[in-house]
Amino acid sequence: MVVARLPLIAGNWKMNLDHQQAIAFVQKLHWALKEAKHLDDSVEVGIFPPFTDLRTVQTLLDADKIPFALGAQDLSTKDSGAYTGEVSGAFLSKLNCAYVIIGHSERREYHGETDEVVAAKVQAALRHSLVPVICVGETLEQREESGPTAISVGQLEVALEGVPADADIVVAYEPVWAIGTGQVASPEQAQEVCAKLREVVAAKLGPDAGQRTRVLYGGSVKSANIASFMREPDVDGALVGGASLVVDEFAAIIRYQK
Ligand code: PGA
Repeated sequence: MVVARLPLIAGNWKMNLDHQQAIAFVQKLHWALKEAKHLDDSVEVGIFPPFTDLRTVQTLLDADKIPFALGAQDLSTKDSGAYTGEVSGAFLSKLNCAYVIIGHSERREYHGETDEVVAAKVQAALRHSLVPVICVGETLEQREESGPTAISVGQLEVALEGVPADADIVVAYEPVWAIGTGQVASPEQAQEVCAKLREVVAAKLGPDAGQRTRVLYGGSVKSANIASFMREPDVDGALVGGASLVVDEFAAIIRYQK
């Protein structure tokens, strides 16, 4: 059976926009989409602000009935306790976060997150009913050495250890060489890896999960290239960094099919 997957356009703000700037940004984005009558059920919009913005943004989404899904950029492997500086998935759930990004290459690179840490964070997310957006991807060196798929496949296999077959997860293929560089993967390159990652989900969690799980592409996505990625059969959306911080540009990415 072929399952239709709802496209997800996710904006990863990284360490940008404080809570006051976040209010203005979310209001403008909502307005831009509403004005153009481009807020409908054909695409899910996710925003991933810094931790310190989450409460403010949650309140705004709630008060103005803005249909964006809220997500965090990371979470602790632990649920509570003496872990200074950590943020529990329980707290994110309480703020109505639906998603949490896990294993972004910037966390892997600057915070030493190993595949095992990523796997523990996936478990933490699932314990608190958060959908993990599991990021995988290779550096240019790794691509030259091991080919286009091996690194991402290996990372995803570890991340999916112990994940139940009925778990709701999202996978994001983000080649490190394309993140914030302007050097975008071709749609064919994205498709090749995304299809392979879907196979990994199917092998680990079963064919239903393989069909149902959304696989995103991320890395220098812009309004000018989004449609070419979305035409690929195994690309179900995008994780957008830099371009998600510019209202008109992010709105244009969300409206890719119009
Ligand atoms: P970029 O970042 O769109 O700025 O390349 C993508 C990401 O890191 O999620």
